[in-house]
Amino acid sequence: MNKVLIASNNSNKIFEIKNILGENQLISLKDFGVSIDVTEDGNTLEDNAFKKAKEFSKVLNLPALSDDTGLFVDALDGAPGIYSARYAGENVSYKDNCNKLLANLKKTEPGKKNAVFVCVICFYVNEKEFYFFKGECKGKIIAEARGVNGFGYDPLFVPDGYNKSFAELTDEEKNKISHRAVSLNKFKEFSDSYFQ
Ligand code: IMP
Repeated sequence: MNKVLIASNNSNKIFEIKNILGENQLISLKDFGVSIDVTEDGNTLEDNAFKKAKEFSKVLNLPALSDDTGLFVDALDGAPGIYSARYAGENVSYKDNCNKLLANLKKTEPGKKNAVFVCVICFYVNEKEFYFFKGECKGKIIAEARGVNGFGYDPLFVPDGYNKSFAELTDEEKNKISHRAVSLNKFKEFSDSYFQ
């Protein structure tokens, strides 16, 4: 079985990635208590996803799969976007970021809070061989946090076609429709033939 390294230190992401792809082929440094620091200073989700996958890949000399995600809010001209992790500053909590988003949308009418989660997966094999898979999930931002599941901005995001926030959905429900599920399912289809 060809092993693939998950290029993330984020246990929420690792949990979702394993949940969506299955655990068989995946290794995470986190399972061994190791984490590596990659500065996410790219200008696009693709830049950051590439950088993370490359740096992790070098550690074990294995193909690596990274995820870079942003929440793009129309009324805020796409913010927090690629800065979603540090919207309220460096080393802040998910709650700090959610509070800043709520504060910045306070004066926006409820019907004008459209947003989209965009997830870019990079599958890095070597410097000459790497692939990107993109997934989106459209929805809206609500006026206050709801639910306890998931992570990040999940309590504030209601996906189109639902009246529950991501954090009110079960893991299974979120992992069927999320931006991460869409991009990982594209990777899954690709990897079935790649690893034949
Ligand atoms: P990054 O991809 O590690 O740069 O993550 C960006 C930030 O987006 C994270 O710190 C979370 O706050 C948020 N985020 C990423 N994925 C999700 C998700 O699936 N739901 C809610 N927030 C997310």
